[in-house]
Amino acid sequence: MRPLIAAVDLSAIRHNYAVAKRCAPGRQAFAVVKANAYGHGVREVVASLRGEADGFAVACLEEAAEVRALDDEARVLLLEGCFEPAEYQLAAQLGLDLVVQGVEQAEALLAAPLARPLSVWLKLDSGMHRLGFSPDALRHWHARLRGAAQVAELNLISHFACADLRGHTLNELQLEAFLDLLDLDFDQRSLANSAAILTMPASHMDWLRPGIMLYGATPLADLSAAELGLKPAMTLSAQLIAVREIAAGESVGYGATWEATRPSRIGTVSCGYADGYPLHAPSGTPVVVNGQRVPLAGRVSMDMLAVDLSDLPDARVGDPVELWGAQLPVDELAQACGTIGYELLTKVTARVPRRYLA
Ligand SMILES: *Cc1c(COP(=O)(O)O)cnc(C)c1O
Repeated sequence: MRPLIAAVDLSAIRHNYAVAKRCAPGRQAFAVVKANAYGHGVREVVASLRGEADGFAVACLEEAAEVRALDDEARVLLLEGCFEPAEYQLAAQLGLDLVVQGVEQAEALLAAPLARPLSVWLKLDSGMHRLGFSPDALRHWHARLRGAAQVAELNLISHFACADLRGHTLNELQLEAFLDLLDLDFDQRSLANSAAILTMPASHMDWLRPGIMLYGATPLADLSAAELGLKPAMTLSAQLIAVREIAAGESVGYGATWEATRPSRIGTVSCGYADGYPLHAPSGTPVVVNGQRVPLAGRVSMDMLAVDLSDLPDARVGDPVELWGAQLPVDELAQACGTIGYELLTKVTARVPRRYLA
């Protein structure tokens, strides 16, 4: 068996959900499980949070149907709404909470004959300019949807563009835009993602939407997951599958981009970019072998990568390697590679077996 697994600690996810809830006593929280629960496995994550989470949030109807099949009671929020008219009836059958983020969606909802009314979340474009109504348009659609046969609850939702950057001026402006609409009659309100949950209590409203923090990665540029009391959920583990000595001046890997400046011991690791390890990780990126950090050496291959074991003379074939996880925060690897923990976690590919710790 190929020695590469993504171990997922479900108790860490439950712990991190509890951290989110503790930040905002008395509020409810949609656990965001879009994109296969950020790569961790939506079935296992939902099953693990079942009964604990107040609700789940997903990106599309396909994901919502999967969550609903696992939990027939929790609220399930469709973050981008429906993409075509036929989806409204399905959303109603599944009893979803539905975002309405634009004119086309609002009109399609009002035209849909639904078996039962939906809990609707009108989305405000408070400044991110990706989805949602302007404040004036939102007032208009609030009036049109309030009392419509298709609408049970009418709620307000918006999303921060810069919540990871504490003190960014857009955060205040977006919060103000949201608060400015609260003279309207809404049943529920939701604004905060992970970063805002942790740093902007004024944004907590009725429903939190923690995503990345559930998985134990930091949503903030300047505070680590450990500093935030979050536990990493995923550890990507491989092994050394070959070890060799090379002479000074010899190179390693495709393109011969890494050259030994001294006689060197090179380890080959059973993980590559086809598993989701970033191709663009530069030489020197930390990799943990036998609990010790060693530098990546040369270009990452499809199924393998190489490390410089010169300072770890006892390392041998079969020794454990951690690409990220409990010993090397995914955020640290992401930073070394010019990306974010979100991308690394969601890009672990299907061929990497997940092993679950309850
Ligand atoms: C993905 C998403 C979230 C979760 O964001 P995190 O930064 O992962 O906490 C919250 N709200 C919306 C609308 C999202 O798309």
